[in-house]
Amino acid sequence: MRAARLYAPGDLRVEDVPRPEPGPGDVLVQIEVALTDGTDLKTFRRGHPVLAQESPAAFGHEFCGIVDGRRVVAANSAPCGVCDGCARGEQCRDLVFLAGAYADWLVVPERIADVNLHEVPRDVEAEVAAMVEPLACCLRGVERANIHAGDSVAILGAGPIGLMLAACVADAGGWPVIVGGRPERHQLASLFGAETGPGTAADVVFEAAGTDEAWLDAVELVRSGGTVVFFGGLPREARPPIDAYRVHYEELTLRGSFHHTPATVRAALGFLASGAYPWERLVTHRVLLDDLPELFADPPRDLLKAAVVP
Ligand SMILES: [Zn+2]
Repeated sequence: MRAARLYAPGDLRVEDVPRPEPGPGDVLVQIEVALTDGTDLKTFRRGHPVLAQESPAAFGHEFCGIVDGRRVVAANSAPCGVCDGCARGEQCRDLVFLAGAYADWLVVPERIADVNLHEVPRDVEAEVAAMVEPLACCLRGVERANIHAGDSVAILGAGPIGLMLAACVADAGGWPVIVGGRPERHQLASLFGAETGPGTAADVVFEAAGTDEAWLDAVELVRSGGTVVFFGGLPREARPPIDAYRVHYEELTLRGSFHHTPATVRAALGFLASGAYPWERLVTHRVLLDDLPELFADPPRDLLKAAVVP
């Protein structure tokens, strides 16, 4: 079969490899479509400490595919159910990940298949269903933000994650404002329930850009007594100089949000199927698997997500 494998930052190759063999309990999925996302682009450029440890590394984690004639999606990880984090209802400390969705076939490990593999509801397009993982992360973020009806919620980051967060915030009763981004994103923002603007003195601020500057901007933007959710990860060695005065004297709440849970994965699939927002607008490009390295090497300016077809 064909598969895209990452040899080193910037060195992605589509090659012939043996079809993966599922072990007991694993599920072999024939990929219909995989989607690119910001994490993949970041990994392509600078590698990834968790998701691309080997060389070559299997690559791609948002997908929709076929098992025994049924259309399915799966999240890219599953919790262990026994660690300290799982016992406390917090994020699992021992997540198992999958990778390799940029390929003809993908093995979903047993632990993920057991809790995070779902049949796609009828009438949901494969490209839309494949967004279940990032949308589940956004629902997790909104859960962590503890949004109240009427809260103003600033979102730093106007990419697909920012737009999905906006939809989740709007659905939770908040008023999302997307901060920054190019003017052409404004119309799209309104389709996902958001305005665009400066976001000053917001009740809640989501950092969804994954940069040091955005972490600092988030702490600057939030109102006194407000909540910041750090949604975008930084490199391990990052130590952004947070405004300690504001955190202490203005009683800010700072929270991290990472990844998703089985509950938010199920909720995300329902949210996609509801058709409440024009999810399909987030897929702006379509490429064949063989052309994926070219796309990553020189991503178009207007790229949100690309559908990658084997
Ligand atoms: Zn666990």
